[in-house]
Amino acid sequence: ENCSTSADKPRILLMGLRRSGKSSIQKVVFHKMSPNETLFLESTNKIYKDDISSSSFVNFQIWDFPGQVDFLDPTFDSEMIFKGTGALIFVIDAQDDYVEALERLHLTVSRAYKVNPDINFEVFIHKVDGLSDDHKIDTQRDIHQRANDELADANLEKLHLSLYLTSIYDHSIFEAFSKVVQKLLPQLPTLENLLNIFISHSGIEKAFLFDVVSKIYIATDSSPVDMQSYELCCDMIDVVIDVSCIYGLMQDGSGCAYDKESSAIIRLNNSTVLYLKEVTKFLALVCILREESFERKGLIEYNFHCFRKAIHEVFEVGNLPQGACSSSNNL
Ligand code: GDP
Repeated sequence: ENCSTSADKPRILLMGLRRSGKSSIQKVVFHKMSPNETLFLESTNKIYKDDISSSSFVNFQIWDFPGQVDFLDPTFDSEMIFKGTGALIFVIDAQDDYVEALERLHLTVSRAYKVNPDINFEVFIHKVDGLSDDHKIDTQRDIHQRANDELADANLEKLHLSLYLTSIYDHSIFEAFSKVVQKLLPQLPTLENLLNIFISHSGIEKAFLFDVVSKIYIATDSSPVDMQSYELCCDMIDVVIDVSCIYGLMQDGSGCAYDKESSAIIRLNNSTVLYLKEVTKFLALVCILREESFERKGLIEYNFHCFRKAIHEVFEVGNLPQGACSSSNNL
């Protein structure tokens, strides 16, 4: 099974103080837990490797700082772990006093940067659902200022932090995760280009390429993303997968809720059509288009067929590790 290792999938570490919201983020984004259920989650207290690599395009791990995880501990092989990491997400609880979190952030990113300066450092200012809009902006500015001052004091001006305001109670956490994942994809410009070509030849208004399990979009065409369209497409994936899980499996529960044949069309009451098609084992295309454009369904299907083929080629070529095996099963 060497060929299906997740070595070339985007690898993400989720870190932060205890109770900052890491397990909640992981459960909501990757395991379809509803935000309210996270109130009853037990706090994580060790390095936790979530095995989603067999079901998602993304490969990620959670690291906790309950206090005992110590960089000076010789058994703690930060070297090895940071080397293989594409992005490090540090979660800060914005509803709490964040002085200690900022100290930890500094310690963590400066350590990781020394091991691997190519890591993307992403800071989730989390639980902002409890904050007013003004307060959100102030908090973001304050965290930005303090974190960068400390980096400057340590001569680490080159270390760049990207900040996001997130909450599990709306789509902001999915949106932030999407940005984090997209930065790790060398194929992103190609994917965007293919999406642009596909929509312009098919009369489609907006198209997202989704990781089905997490509802992270790994690419979209270059027209601006409005949150409402994104949410609509997320909802469509939920509906399709839920219906498929309930009515699509065999009596004994075997079968697959998402496979090559997966596709769906939903007509909305405002003359808009949502259209979903399987692209790979993990990825689906979800489009928004006008009803009139959908009259040329044959054309759209033909264009989709070409698009799908191109996507398969992109990942096969991009992943081929020196004549090893074709990694199309990595998709
Ligand atoms: P961990 O120790 O970092 O894994 O933190 P948990 O995931 O256990 O979360 C701690 C608490 O924060 C839980 O009670 C969650 O319900 C809550 N929480 C997580 N994310 C959010 C959020 O976006 N908004 C709010 N208001 N609470 C959150």
